[in-house]
Amino acid sequence: MKNVLLVLSGPSGVGKGTVAEKLCEKNKGVELSISCTTRKKRVGEIEGVHYFFISKEDFKKKIEENGFLEYSKHFENYYGTPKDFVLKKLEKSDVLLEIDVNGGLNVKKEFPETVLVMILPPSMEELKNRLINRHTETEEQIEIRLERIKYELDKQSLYDYVVINNSVEQTVKEIEEIIIKEKNKK
Ligand code: 5GP
Repeated sequence: MKNVLLVLSGPSGVGKGTVAEKLCEKNKGVELSISCTTRKKRVGEIEGVHYFFISKEDFKKKIEENGFLEYSKHFENYYGTPKDFVLKKLEKSDVLLEIDVNGGLNVKKEFPETVLVMILPPSMEELKNRLINRHTETEEQIEIRLERIKYELDKQSLYDYVVINNSVEQTVKEIEEIIIKEKNKK
């Protein structure tokens, strides 16, 4: 397999969505996978672009059919990486998965050549401000997410690369370099 399967993880609010978007915009050979989720659509989110929004019932059916590369439950909702969708994309391009730490580690178990990249904020304070300022979560939801962040930070040593998101441009550049380096290894 010469194309790279790259997992991008990092705390909620760290800006990994923007990084992933810019990376794919700049590099036509890198495609973003789309996850399935049972959570409600947020304002501005589009079906088949940000997620495939499906019912809990359909999600469970897909689990039974072994249709996910990995899946997990966060905040009462299920999230999963559709297997066929990713493997098909990987035949013609590098594929980026924007998933949580446990998801990333599970994908690596199945595909050891998967490259795990964790994006971290310059500081926790800055991250907290970003979460509050995007106005998409309640105070209680923000607290839950901050707890989750601590958990994810503890797992960074299991990742292949850690990139500090000081600026989107710099982070994108660093990930481009990681992709080139990993391609050269193959
Ligand atoms: P959000 O609700 O903010 O879009 O995502 C919540 C969390 O679910 C984030 O940490 C995100 O990375 C994670 N996530 C999104 N898609 C997937 C997926 O396919 N699998 C797993 N395991 N986590 C996912």
